[in-house]
Order: sequence, then structure tokens, then C-alpha cells
Amino acid sequence: MSRPAHVVVVGGGITGLAAAHRLTRVSSRDVQVTLLEAGERFGGVIRTRQFAGRRFDCGPEAMLAAIPHGPRLCHELGLAGELVAPANDQPFLWTRGSLRRLPPRLLAGVPDGTRAVLATRILSPLGLARAGVDLLAPSRPLTTDVSIGSLVRRRLGREAHEQLIEPLLGGIHAGECDALSVRAIAPQLAAALARGHGLVRGLRAAARETPAPVGPTFLALEDGLESLIVALVEHLATRVELRAGCALESLAVTPGGAFALALASGETLQADHVLLAVPAPAASRLLAGIAPPAAAELGEIDYASVATIALAYPPDALRRPLTGSGFLVPRSEHRTVTACTWSSAKWAHLGGDPVLVRASVGHSADERSPALADDELVRIVHDELAGAMDIRGEPLEARVSRFERSLPQYAVGHLERLGRIEAALAEAPGVHLAGAAYRGVGIGACIRDGESAALAIAAALDPAAGSAQATSTRQASG
Ligand SMILES: Cc1cc2nc3c(=O)[nH]c(=O)nc-3n(C[C@H](O)[C@H](O)[C@H](O)COP(=O)(O)OP(=O)(O)OC[C@H]3O[C@@H](n4cnc5c(N)ncnc54)[C@H](O)[C@@H]3O)c2cc1C
Repeated sequence: MSRPAHVVVVGGGITGLAAAHRLTRVSSRDVQVTLLEAGERFGGVIRTRQFAGRRFDCGPEAMLAAIPHGPRLCHELGLAGELVAPANDQPFLWTRGSLRRLPPRLLAGVPDGTRAVLATRILSPLGLARAGVDLLAPSRPLTTDVSIGSLVRRRLGREAHEQLIEPLLGGIHAGECDALSVRAIAPQLAAALARGHGLVRGLRAAARETPAPVGPTFLALEDGLESLIVALVEHLATRVELRAGCALESLAVTPGGAFALALASGETLQADHVLLAVPAPAASRLLAGIAPPAAAELGEIDYASVATIALAYPPDALRRPLTGSGFLVPRSEHRTVTACTWSSAKWAHLGGDPVLVRASVGHSADERSPALADDELVRIVHDELAGAMDIRGEPLEARVSRFERSLPQYAVGHLERLGRIEAALAEAPGVHLAGAAYRGVGIGACIRDGESAALAIAAALDPAAGSAQATSTRQASG
């Protein structure tokens, strides 16, 4: 009898945990799985903490419902009853001294009509007229990847870019739209242009062809997203060797073609397959010895640092009722806060007294703010929120959470870079990559990426069973 294959998953964030979970479900032959996590806890950037008497997400707070992998994993782990939709999902923009409602029906950040934008008064008449040029000028397919900023400014003008696209698309990635790739982040924009009738008409036509999604856009977990991590760890505990506080230091290929993994503790493990579910800089270091071209490409993926500041206020401190989910701040306003979630209004389970809000600071061109001392950060953020939201009085409680170099920047040419990485890894069969650095930063995209790496490993270990599983899993995700 052959020995069981050994798969080592490196990184215990949502990607690594989802991959290990899928591996245990799809592997038909005896497979031993070990998961190594450098930190003392699992979950990576997913952090739920006790704050002002409630379970509060300091990192990610919700997953996109449209990517089925997140909700499906919650169902598999018995968490379906804990999934909650926002009680209020109307976002605002803090611009030119006021909070203004963002237009409804935004298609990749672009409003679907003039009337919707007029009503919000986010664009000046001149800015709106400039955006309207898009309706008159025919468009051509992109022949090469370009930045979101250059495409949107060319079609809709500077103001629409600064007031709508940069806060929405740049905000999600904590990046600069002038550096971020259209093809990797907003392929809908490229597809809309390719229809030949401009951005807005192309997006509208695509929306007409796609059935409108039913149900909420986002889903959270009532006890916080870390309950998904806890459930995964509980589920894996009897099936996988889970090792926290156990960093992988280096990776080498043995003369027999297996992998030798040197741990920070001095121990060495042998593995047949290694899945690196770690941020790109860590993957780059680990691959330097066995796949130098892939390591060099991974080293080029930049990251932005961010911090979140949770604040609790007595209800009577807020003069303006929280009638939405929060607000975004255009970069052109030169504020420290980039976005603020009105947590108590957005999520019913966070409602009540005191009122909770959560601000974000930091992006790829602002490394300074997330590095400020806690008390200074809280003071600056409170002052800005007081101005935007008409708050009188001080916060009762505040909590700063830092996420250093946590959000990968999909620069122009990102997909081509992924192609080169994949080609280089073909020279090191048995090494796999998954996570936020590659095919989507959101939790759903990370789960999908981890699961698809697990399917690839299962298929390599047992080609017949692997391809059957891949087909049934694809059918299940619809
Ligand atoms: C502040 C913030 C808010 C966000 N909000 C949302 C949101 O609301 N919705 C959403 O969908 N997405 C959100 N995201 C994005 C999403 O949460 C992340 O992209 C995703 O959770 C990343 O998961 P991951 O497992 O790929 O990486 P990580 O969570 O970074 O996990 C990687 C793990 O690898 C470990 N590791 C690194 N090196 C080694 C090594 N050598 N050996 C062993 N282990 C190692 C690390 O310790 C870490 O635990 C947010 C991100 C941030 C930072």
C-alpha cells in the first residue's frame, strides 16, 4: 500500500482554511493535510472583537452575496441561520461640506442615468455635462490593459472619476484608480466599451441582459465574521493537523521530487503538494529558492496598509439621524478618513445604545495615517466624523485596529503577471498559490480561490476523482 499523500497548506486566513476544508471533502484517496499558521490565531485579517458590549468586526465586516462560495461555506458549516443582510444599505458621499446620497443602480461605480445623478447633486452641472459626452462618443474595445482612472476620466471626465469611481472602486482596494487595472478589477467597464456605444450605454445593455440579482448585496454573520473561522477550525480539528504559531521559513525540493519545509521552530516537514495561501511578499520569499521567476513577479505585487477605528457614542451625541449605511470620502477632499460605516444603522444586531460607527483610514498613497499613534488617530477621526455627521460630545469608547500591508494592489497588467507566475510555477509542479493577491480581494473570492486550489490538488493526486469532483462542485455553485 502506498503512503498517504501529504498536503501542506501554508497560511491560516480564510483562503487557507477554506482550501483545507475543501481538500478534506473532495480527496478520494488517503490524504494527510497539515495547515501552518505563523500567528497565534487563525483567521488572518478577519478579526471580531468585543467592543462596547457587542461582537464587532474590526476587519472585514461582510461578504458579497453574489459570489456563492461564501454563503455556501456558511451553510456547510451550519451557520446559515446566522447570516444577516444589512438593515440599511444606502451609502452617502461626504463631499463639498455635505453628506450626499450616492445614486441608486450604480453599475461598477457608474450611475445608469443622468436623472439619478442630478437628484444627488454629487456632480456639478459642468461635471454632469462632461460625463454626458460618453453618450455621444462611440467606443472601441481596449487593446491593452489600462488604469481605471485613465479609462473613466477619458469617457466621463475628471469630476465623475473623483466623486464616484475613485471612492467606490479605489476605496474597496485602498488603492489609486490611476494605478489599478481595469481588466483585473472592473472587467465590466472593458466589456461595456467593447459594445461600441460608450461606457454608460454598454453598462446599461449588459445590465438588461443579466437578470437582476434577488436578495441582499452583502451578508454578514450575526456574531461576527470570525464565527466562520471558529466553525472552520472546529470542523477541521479532527481532519487536519492545525498548527498555529508555526511559520514556514523556507521551501526546498528534495532529490526525490517532494518538498522539504523548514519551520521557524527548526523542524522540517516533507510534503507532496504545498499550497501557499499567504500574502504575495511571503510567497515571494518562500519561492525564491525553487521558482525564482515566480518569486520575482510575486515580489512586484504591492500592498496598502489600512486601519479601522471603531467609535461608540451616546445616542444623543448624534444630532443627525443615521439614515444610511455610512459614507465614502473622495480623495480630493484631502481628509484622513476614507470611509465610515454607520454600523448601528447598517446592521440590526449592532443597533442600540451606544451607537457604533467605524471609520477606515489609509490607502496606497497615504501610508502615514494608519501609522499614527492610537490617541492621535482617534482624535483626528473623531474631529472629521463630528464635522461630517454633526456629532456633539466625545466617544465613550474607541478601538484602533491596524492592518499593515494587508490589501493587494492589482496594478495595470495584473492578469498578465498572473499568467507569467502560473507559467513559472509549471516548472515547480506541486506548488500552488491562492489568496487575496490573485483573483479578487473579497472574502468570497478568497474562498473560491482556496477551493479551486484544493480541487487542483485533489485532481493531481487522483485525476479521475479530481475531475469528477470539480464537475460536481462547479454544478453545485451554479
Ligand atoms: C481592513 C480590511 C477590511 C476588509 N473588508 C472586507 C469586507 O468587508 N468584505 C470582504 O469581502 N473583504 C474585505 N476585506 C478583504 C478580505 O478580508 C481579505 O482579502 C481576505 O480575508 C484575505 O484572506 P487571506 O486568507 O487570503 O489572507 P490573510 O487573511 O492575510 O491570511 C494569510 C495568513 O497567512 C499567514 N502567514 C503569512 N506568512 C506565513 C508563513 N511564512 N507561514 C505560515 N503562515 C503565514 C498570516 O499570518 C495570515 O494569517 C478587507 C480587508 C481588510 C484588511
